[in-house]
Amino acid sequence: PRSGFCKSNSIFYSKRRPLSLPQNEFIDVATFISSRPHQGKTAFIDAATGRRLTFTDVWRAVDSVSSCLSELGIRKGDVILLLTPNSIFFPIVCLSVLSLGAVVTTTNPLNTPREIGKQIVDSKPVLVFTTQSLAPKLTGSNLPIVLMGEHGDYHAGAEVVGSLDEMIRKEPNGKRVGERVNQEDAATLLYSSGTTGESKGVVSSHRNLIAMVQSIVSMNSFEDEEESFVCFLPMFHMYGLGAFALGRLARGSTVIVLPRFEMNEMLTTISKYRATCLPLVPPILVALVNGADQIKAKYDLSSLQYIICGGAPLSKEVIEEFLEKYPNVNIRQGYALTESTTVGASTHTLEESRRHGTAGLLSPSMEAKIVDPESGKALSVNRAGELWLRGPTIMKGYFRNPEATASALDSNAWLRTGDLCYIDDDGFLFVVDRLKEVIKYKGYQVPPSELEALLLTHPEIVDAAVVPFPDKEVGQYPMAYIHRKAGSCLSEDAVMDFISKQVAPYKRIRRVAFVASIPKTPSGKILRKDLIQLATSKL
Ligand code: AMP
Repeated sequence: PRSGFCKSNSIFYSKRRPLSLPQNEFIDVATFISSRPHQGKTAFIDAATGRRLTFTDVWRAVDSVSSCLSELGIRKGDVILLLTPNSIFFPIVCLSVLSLGAVVTTTNPLNTPREIGKQIVDSKPVLVFTTQSLAPKLTGSNLPIVLMGEHGDYHAGAEVVGSLDEMIRKEPNGKRVGERVNQEDAATLLYSSGTTGESKGVVSSHRNLIAMVQSIVSMNSFEDEEESFVCFLPMFHMYGLGAFALGRLARGSTVIVLPRFEMNEMLTTISKYRATCLPLVPPILVALVNGADQIKAKYDLSSLQYIICGGAPLSKEVIEEFLEKYPNVNIRQGYALTESTTVGASTHTLEESRRHGTAGLLSPSMEAKIVDPESGKALSVNRAGELWLRGPTIMKGYFRNPEATASALDSNAWLRTGDLCYIDDDGFLFVVDRLKEVIKYKGYQVPPSELEALLLTHPEIVDAAVVPFPDKEVGQYPMAYIHRKAGSCLSEDAVMDFISKQVAPYKRIRRVAFVASIPKTPSGKILRKDLIQLATSKL
């Protein structure tokens, strides 16, 4: 296998050992993961209650739940929606669905009923796993529900067809009806806006997920001790789902699950369970740096060996400040996308992590090109251009959206990432800027075009554009440029209120400016770079 930059075809090959992938065409990712049973060890711990699930418990539960789903008529290709915060049962539901060849789709529990409804129309699920408190967000969808967690009677008009607790308690009957699962079959449908436009369903195959699992298994750990991860990163996102709900199971690690991010709970959990690893996104790392003195005085973080940071850029300065404040904790950087099944580049060893500012070496079996956005020519080492990726974890395409798929994947299976990057002489990837529209608020994707479409429904707004505004704490937040109707006195607050009533809190517009017109190209495309420059010129 090739390694490093190849001058003749301008391809950067991964320097890591290639992945070994199963030859058997007919294997689903759940069966693949279960081939490493890790019997007796703890797979998941509920941070709040201390409840533990061993690997044996997990696979027994998956057997029971998949039998029940099969009895309910769930078949290969059916889409199942998970509308739930993180829990130790989230992975069980996913593995059960995947083992039947059915498809997992997820949504952020903070999403509004309107946002969830839109995703339901697009993904067409046949069944929803949700909680008593989130179920009302589905009102009007008429979808059958399986309730998760503690619940009383649910009477909001939905048809409750079961409870996960009862399903898990049932003896598995081993009877699974249905076709065999091929590695190329769709496994997950997670939403991402890609390089442009509104959120789209990213279709990842069992093959993609198996390769993702193998790339996690192939990582060496910093220490030989047992690994335990604190997971508050959302399992509805590929980062949380791929790496922590599924991937670590194959490695035999323990994942301590929190329903969501809360600083004190996160720190208490590390010290209570003596966790060794903390995966997070840059804004949380910034908060750990800013509050270092109080945090170190209050919490015992001596078990913590390293932090995995990804999802958004992390500056060299923040890394240095962090290492100064927490000298016993290392940082591992990672770069990936939903479209690459959360695999891309990462640092594995201490030495690699010390190259501050790098997102790491290309993951095993991953190939890259750096393409000049103007000329379309592939560039050599140390030159910045759009990063293109190719490898076994690259998505199949966008769900029922051939147009968006064709603009994301070229005929040679290269994924255009929309990120401006360069790769240095030693093969390390550096992310310089984001060429694509998407705004990342605390690591969450905010598609500007979705907010623009909503703004245009306001009777006093003639035209609108939404761009990222840089912020040290959250990364970026959405800022709107508004062209008001002649004579309108619409205020900044009124614009912000209008949007906040309709979207999840992370998508809120947090800054507004009024302009006489929105700058556009002759073909009508918003000149986002001009607006970003205008927004930041006053900083
Ligand atoms: P998502 O699909 O939500 O995971 O978002 C993927 C995008 O997040 C990438 O295309 C990048 O723009 C950004 N991203 C992820 N990891 C990094 C990183 N280490 N440095 C800079 N940007 C990143």
